[in-house]
Amino acid sequence: MTASLIDGKAHAAKLRADVRHQATRLLQEYGLQPGLAIVLVGSDPASDVYVRNKVRQAAEAGLASLEHRLPTETSEAELLALIEQLNGDPAVHGILVQLPLPAHINESKVIHAIAPSKDVDGFHPINVGQLSAGQETLIPCTPYGVLLLLRNTLPSLEGLHAVIVGRSNIVGKPMAQLLLSEHCTVTLTHSRTRNLANVVRGADIVIAAVGKPRLVRGDWIKPGACVIDVGINRVVENGEPYLVGDVAFNEVVEIAGAITPVPGGVGPMTIACLLRNTLIAACGSRGITLSN
Ligand code: NDP
Repeated sequence: MTASLIDGKAHAAKLRADVRHQATRLLQEYGLQPGLAIVLVGSDPASDVYVRNKVRQAAEAGLASLEHRLPTETSEAELLALIEQLNGDPAVHGILVQLPLPAHINESKVIHAIAPSKDVDGFHPINVGQLSAGQETLIPCTPYGVLLLLRNTLPSLEGLHAVIVGRSNIVGKPMAQLLLSEHCTVTLTHSRTRNLANVVRGADIVIAAVGKPRLVRGDWIKPGACVIDVGINRVVENGEPYLVGDVAFNEVVEIAGAITPVPGGVGPMTIACLLRNTLIAACGSRGITLSN
């Protein structure tokens, strides 16, 4: 058996087109253009690429994207003052501070400073708490994207056993909350989990978010399972640089029912969900119900 490929690029393009359509409607009917402020401190090359992609895709989706590039030596107080200003700016509906921040800035303090209603990354403790209470909130973009891929791939998630490998605050933990809300039975695993392979063998859904190239092997997978690979690892093989996931794709594709490729799986969904969160935040600011 060969798994069907879950085409994250195509799903993300559809989601972006929907955001664009809804943004046009908001502008026409309410004179409201969703605005996303993206803050980058320093000149980390990977962060620079992420920010440029986000700005470009936001503009293409009809959002106003406002870029704030600050030098590495920016003080914590200066960054907090900018966030305060963005919190009070009615043209800004979403605020994204690109992580990681330089070491002299306290990341947690910065995340706490963003108004929860504009926290399109879904990292503020208020939004984290609402998600864990099963309440409507701004959902972290990567797990949100994974959820949309699963809903599009499987007829129903109810009662399925989902095993998540990795318990980070940005992927694993919010993923577990989302899947619980979908009535999955959820197992959240991590580096101290005993006999991980055996735990994964019981899964109908496997989500790998670890940061270890090809950790999840073919003989860990229940035949027909749906496998979502969040991992992005840069490796050099035979002198060539490659991006590989946390799943041994060539093995798992022979066993699973469906699988996301890396690249082209979860990655494109993450930015598309950021745009959707900005749209949701803009609607929320005016009490407008977002049509589906
Ligand atoms: P973190 O480093 O924050 O967390 C990794 C998690 O994996 C930890 O919970 C850790 O356990 C666990 N882990 C590490 N080694 C093992 C092991 N051998 N067996 C089981 N669990 C293990 O990573 P992130 O969640 O931020 O990212 C995970 C991956 O996803 C990375 O490759 C990252 O690049 C990618 N990513 C991709 C995104 C996208 O848009 N596609 C977005 C965000 C991340 P413990 O807690 O015990 O240390």
